[in-house]
Amino acid sequence: MTENLRVQEFWRGLGLPGIIDVHTHFMPANVMDKVWSYFDAAGPLTGREWPIRYRHDEDVRVEHLRGFGVRRFTSMIYPHKPNMAVWLNQWSAEFAAHTPDCLLTSTFYPEESAAAYVAQAIESGTRVFKSHIQVGDYSPNDPLLDPVWGVLEESGAPVVIHCGSGPAPGRYTGPEPIAELLARYPGLHLIIAHMGLPEYRDFLEMAAKYAGVYLDTTMVFTDFTEEMTPFPRDQVHRLADLQDRIVFGSDFPNIPYPYVDALEGLTRFDLGEAWLRAVCHDNAARLFDVGLPDLA
Ligand SMILES: [Zn+2]
Repeated sequence: MTENLRVQEFWRGLGLPGIIDVHTHFMPANVMDKVWSYFDAAGPLTGREWPIRYRHDEDVRVEHLRGFGVRRFTSMIYPHKPNMAVWLNQWSAEFAAHTPDCLLTSTFYPEESAAAYVAQAIESGTRVFKSHIQVGDYSPNDPLLDPVWGVLEESGAPVVIHCGSGPAPGRYTGPEPIAELLARYPGLHLIIAHMGLPEYRDFLEMAAKYAGVYLDTTMVFTDFTEEMTPFPRDQVHRLADLQDRIVFGSDFPNIPYPYVDALEGLTRFDLGEAWLRAVCHDNAARLFDVGLPDLA
């Protein structure tokens, strides 16, 4: 069976109209090339090979997602230096303009201009932001970001934030800085990327404490991730408790295994079909306010 059919069988079997994937990467070609070089070298860094599975031209990658039945996805972009976010946001806006199934994604960096361009991005229809604490190498509590969090809290726009210490730790990764951020901006809508791995426990606790905290399933529960940073078995009940706060993400195209593995990984703990429907579609549909026609 082709991979497309295996993926489609997964969501059709749940009675869903398709999948919403909150964590996919589309970015300017020269930036994507750099990301791919990073993963090519990641063997020495993380002790494992990381062959990018969907290393194709951009239009081919979009068609892959559509073939799987992914009805909405994002273009996760992230700057690693000042004066880069605006350019990324412009690129992303153009991408979303000719890719209607992409939720317009923007990003930011601690810099004087950030509050203004984030407000502008929301005004121009941004549906989701991305923040990468390890690559950006900034503290989420950098005073330059205070007005940004203020704007984001007020607007309710969700931020997918890579803030756990895996697969590679950074100066500001881990639960403490995010706990501090949430204490200051308790109304933020944060989607904790990779479920905060390897600090699953602390981030699940934050989701239990703050109604605006979500977790994405990006790479978690797969054989690849379970080998190095297994999900703590004594926390499985939390996944059930937080059924309405967990959203599917894949990290497409930068994954070292087939897309369908990410979906099949979700069945690892037998959380039931209602849980799978919530995670693969319904929670994100509610969070991003997308009504989808029944295309099944
Ligand atoms: Zn990612």
